[in-house]
Amino acid sequence: MPALVLAAAGLYSLRQDDALARHQAVEQAERIAGDVSRRMIPDALRFDMPEAATLGRTASIPIVETLRKLQNSPLIGAAVLTDPEGKVIYPPERGPLPSPAPLDEGELSPAQQDEWLALEAAWQKDSPSAGRVLSTFLALHPPDRFAMVARFRVAMVLVRTNRSAEATALLQAVRDMPEELMAESGVPLRWLAEWQLALHLPESERSRHLHGLASRLVMDPSPLANRLLSDLVPLHSEMKIWETAITDQSRALDLSSFLQSGPAPGVIDFLDRPHLLVTRPVDGGTWHVAVPLGELSNALRLRDREMVRPGDFAIAISSSGQPLLDPPKGGVMLTRAAMNQLPLTVEVYLKDPAAFDAQRRARTRRFAALIAASAGAVVVGFVAAWRAFRRQQQLSEMKSNFVSSVTHELRAPIASVRLMAEELEHGSAPSAEKTRQYLQFIGQECRRLSAVIENVLDFSRREQGRERFEFEPTNMTRLVEETVAVMRAHGSDRHISLVATMDGEPRPMEADGRAVQRLLVNLIDNALKHAPDGSVVTVGLEFAPGVVTLWVEDHGPGIPSDEHERIFDKFYRVGSELRRETPGVGLGLSIVKHLAEAHGGRVKVCSHVGKGSRFTVEFPTPSAQSVPSPESPLPA
Ligand code: ADP
Repeated sequence: MPALVLAAAGLYSLRQDDALARHQAVEQAERIAGDVSRRMIPDALRFDMPEAATLGRTASIPIVETLRKLQNSPLIGAAVLTDPEGKVIYPPERGPLPSPAPLDEGELSPAQQDEWLALEAAWQKDSPSAGRVLSTFLALHPPDRFAMVARFRVAMVLVRTNRSAEATALLQAVRDMPEELMAESGVPLRWLAEWQLALHLPESERSRHLHGLASRLVMDPSPLANRLLSDLVPLHSEMKIWETAITDQSRALDLSSFLQSGPAPGVIDFLDRPHLLVTRPVDGGTWHVAVPLGELSNALRLRDREMVRPGDFAIAISSSGQPLLDPPKGGVMLTRAAMNQLPLTVEVYLKDPAAFDAQRRARTRRFAALIAASAGAVVVGFVAAWRAFRRQQQLSEMKSNFVSSVTHELRAPIASVRLMAEELEHGSAPSAEKTRQYLQFIGQECRRLSAVIENVLDFSRREQGRERFEFEPTNMTRLVEETVAVMRAHGSDRHISLVATMDGEPRPMEADGRAVQRLLVNLIDNALKHAPDGSVVTVGLEFAPGVVTLWVEDHGPGIPSDEHERIFDKFYRVGSELRRETPGVGLGLSIVKHLAEAHGGRVKVCSHVGKGSRFTVEFPTPSAQSVPSPESPLPA
């Protein structure tokens, strides 16, 4: 019962489990969406941004390495760095267009004016004396701007007249001047000096110089910076990198003006392509990076392939309606989640809903079958145990009946024998006839007792496996005649005649003579016990090809047909123990059956209530008999 209740509970919970499966799939999908938002997307968007200190106007020059960092990841389409107040640090603001700033000769003293005119004449004619005139002019301590313009112009004369060592010294002096002074064109003199140095320096020194100039143009740009930079690039093979820097910077400028034009949405249409705008805080500021959606989609696809998740699920990612990772074909969406900081939506799909359902149903069926099989096994086990228990109970009942039968079988004859023996001993028998009857009775009872004891001993030998048979050619006719003669006396007091009939061609049979005799004695004993007084008990022996048949027939009360099988069981006796009229211990027929089988034969009963019974034993003869060798013990 408890097993069946458990099985029912198991099946019920399986039904519940089935209903829960979808719900669990949704929960699982939510976990996956969380994992994608927290781990996969941030991983895909991972790139290093330089710190603010490496890019400001105060940054050490050259900044080429820092700019290279910005070019490292394809995810950085354009990047703008702002300081904590929101002011743009990178790209640097462009200054105004230079406006001409003519020199005012009125600032010069008359002596200085004379020398200035001499200088003008010298540089117009590329005079070799220009250097000397310059020294005279500088000795008069002219205003700083005149002094620097004079130096630069004389340097250019020296350049043109191939006196580059002197020219370089002058240009360096102009470049390293402490304050910013303008040439008459409005361009800072420092720039012009730098430019000339770069153009005319020997090849070995040029690259370092060019990088410095380019860095300055990038980080302190004028509207002319881009043009100047593109002029610089062809001057040296190492200048290629600045080409990218120029484009990067102009993109950064575009992004910067885009950002300043209003609040930036998550996805922006920038440089004719959709970009996702992400922010990255660094030391000293915040980067605003425009990530091309195409590149982001590639990065996400790569991460998606690396991600470990149950095979039934797939994900889709989109940004403001733009797909980044496509949903699976034919999939069913289980959950959708929006990311907190980014305008990205994650959807989790069940890839193949039909396969998922089929798998779930198959699992449910497997468990249901398992539960049913377990419950079945428990029931079968219970029935088997119950039957074993009943059988054991019957056996113990039979055993106790057996003990009381044996006791009764022994006690009654012993009591009467003792009584008669005592009477005979005291000589108190009434007549010689009575004495003869007493002695005959004592003899009969003693034979009965030994028959009972013989049966019990046989049975015990069999049970202990100590039984031995000796097979030899046996004359069955003689065996039957002798046994009938011995047994005839048992029925004489009740006037029962025991007759023997033979049929067929007698021939010896391989048998254990003693065992066959015990078998026959038991059958005749039963027939005599049950036959009515004055009736006939017949013993038959028939020889036919392949079989010898031995039978005993009486005209007793017969045996009900439903008892025919059980009478051959050990200890079994027909009727209740209290109403039983015939003596016996319930072993006779079980011994008959066993001995018949030991000879390869079988025993059967034909009996009708009120008419009598015939017990028949068939022994197969040599052609069909499987005779065990005389030495080998037979199974119990
Ligand atoms: P028992 O010692 O009781 O004779 P058996 O094993 O020889 O034991 O016989 C089993 C039962 O079969 C007997 O109790 C008896 O009721 C029934 N039986 C055996 N032989 C006959 C027979 N010839 N006529 C009627 N009943 C018989």
